[in-house]
Amino acid sequence: MAEFKNPLSWSISKSTVLHYCVKKYYFSTYSNHLKNLDIQLRNDAMVAKNIKSLAMWLGECLHDLMSDYLHLQKNNQNSAENIKKIKILLTEKMDRDFQISKSRDYGKYNPDTKFGLTEHYYKENIDDLYIQWKIAMFDSFDKFCESELNFQIQQYFQDPQNSIFIEPKEKNFDSMKIQIDNIPELMWINVFAQPDFGIITADKKYIIYDRKSGKVPQKDWNSISDQLKVYAYKILQKIGLEKMDDFDAQGYEVFLKWIEKFGWKITKQDLLDIEQKIIDDVNVQKNFLVNKNVEANIPMESVVFQRTNDPYKCKDCTFYRVCEELKKYEKFHDMGEVQMPKVEEVEYLDDDFPF
Ligand code: SF4
Repeated sequence: MAEFKNPLSWSISKSTVLHYCVKKYYFSTYSNHLKNLDIQLRNDAMVAKNIKSLAMWLGECLHDLMSDYLHLQKNNQNSAENIKKIKILLTEKMDRDFQISKSRDYGKYNPDTKFGLTEHYYKENIDDLYIQWKIAMFDSFDKFCESELNFQIQQYFQDPQNSIFIEPKEKNFDSMKIQIDNIPELMWINVFAQPDFGIITADKKYIIYDRKSGKVPQKDWNSISDQLKVYAYKILQKIGLEKMDDFDAQGYEVFLKWIEKFGWKITKQDLLDIEQKIIDDVNVQKNFLVNKNVEANIPMESVVFQRTNDPYKCKDCTFYRVCEELKKYEKFHDMGEVQMPKVEEVEYLDDDFPF
């Protein structure tokens, strides 16, 4: 493989954005290429790409707290005093970050200070909301600590024969990456996936947890989420696809605010389905690349990435301002023979549910 730094990649969140709005996929994946049109537009897009809503940020903070808490349990250090300490440290960090976001100049892109909240970017006053939701976030954590589910999880830590994985707070992209060299369509593609929490028992049962901080969504609960399927598929890729028939895995979605848990046995069909979804998505993603070259991963011109027709999606979109600005450049673009690749649209982004 030629030495390209950023070959085409796939993850469940990239897939969701692709099917939510193709233009949003462009901004979140290829904003840097806007420098060929206008450097200020590129900088504005980079700012928008790195900010997040208050709800999403608090969800991430809750994930960090859970990660710290589970590490305490794993190391047998989960005394009340230590739990109080991790809560205080997180509160201090959150308050500092909130102030940074509030006083930041969003007109400039600074690669060293990327953090910001969408609401501050749009000059909304969210001081009261922050306090209210921060309390709700810590309540969720306390509820989880007292729950039957936490008691069950503690049992896994008691058995020294179990191997336990806890997602670290700092993202490690190398450990998240799967390179799939046994499927021709996925050669050279980086597939990213990392479960929040997983257990391998002594008799080779795999138990995977995906924590959610938002509301329990209205959806068909008879089927397992793609996110859990892809985590299981990653494990299978590691231990060998030939073990698919005997692979014994269960996946759970845990909604921390309500301590509701939905679980499934992961079947062979689930694994085949997610493999096919990755292949289908990657084939769509390739259509947006110059010469379909996945190693170089250079996008076609921005005009090829179509906008959603759903105004509701634009209303809360971080890229709204940049997207409107880009229209001016695209207005007179001669599309010539270029075909816009077709992408099936979904209605929701998974992480859009309010905290
Ligand atoms: S503003 Fe609308 S069209 Fe533009 S990226 Fe966002 S969702 Fe897509």
